[in-house]
Amino acid sequence: MIDMKNVCFDYDNGTHALHHISLKVEDGEFLFLVGQSGAGKSSLLKLITCENVATSGSVFINGYNLGKLRKFEVPYFRRTMGMIFQDFRLIQNMTVFDNVAFVLRVTNHSNKYIKARVPYVLDLVNLRDEANKYPHEMSGGEQQRVAIARALASGPPILIADEPTGNLDPALSLQIVELLFDINRYCGTTIMLVTHEHELVRHFGGRVVSIENGQIAFDEVIGGQNEGK
Ligand code: ADP
Repeated sequence: MIDMKNVCFDYDNGTHALHHISLKVEDGEFLFLVGQSGAGKSSLLKLITCENVATSGSVFINGYNLGKLRKFEVPYFRRTMGMIFQDFRLIQNMTVFDNVAFVLRVTNHSNKYIKARVPYVLDLVNLRDEANKYPHEMSGGEQQRVAIARALASGPPILIADEPTGNLDPALSLQIVELLFDINRYCGTTIMLVTHEHELVRHFGGRVVSIENGQIAFDEVIGGQNEGK
């Protein structure tokens, strides 16, 4: 659960990036966060991932009060959140299996667990048979699916997708967002998808939070164009 109350954030140079943001995202929700370049999306995400701390107001996520988080607690907090990015961020000299297994290895999971868990998450993204491939042998859409599998490997309650379709053509973008909706429904993962692609949002519909000039301009549920199809 994400609960931001009356959050302001100023950069050191005095830029007021976020003004009095209040945003609650319940467990299991799927949310689009939209806004023009410079609106404050990244600043908001950096508060959610605890890269920055709110100048005022409070941020509670997955039981952690981020304003009071001690330094040693930050990595534990971050493990409650999976992240995917526009540029996939896969390790090029590792196979698909090892890219996904990596996060489990660094958090000291047993080999037995890893051998069972990695095929399970690869199955979720329909890449069960691609475990031995390297990222450069895969299409952009497939690489993003590997990144999604990696983000889900440790079973985080929240997945943050930061412009996940920015490097993909429109058809693949739809597939990736459809996959994220499936994961939201099937695994119950709370998903926040940050995008500036309004077409995508209109296509799917759902809860849309729009940021303008560091403020929430609207927070509404809209109908999708593919409803009933
Ligand atoms: P978005 O992600 O929606 O493009 P940002 O959160 O990056 O927007 O930016 C919000 C505002 O904060 C903008 O005015 C931007 O210029 C400013 N900003 C972003 N990063 C920094 C920074 N590191 N230092 C100072 N100002 C920043």
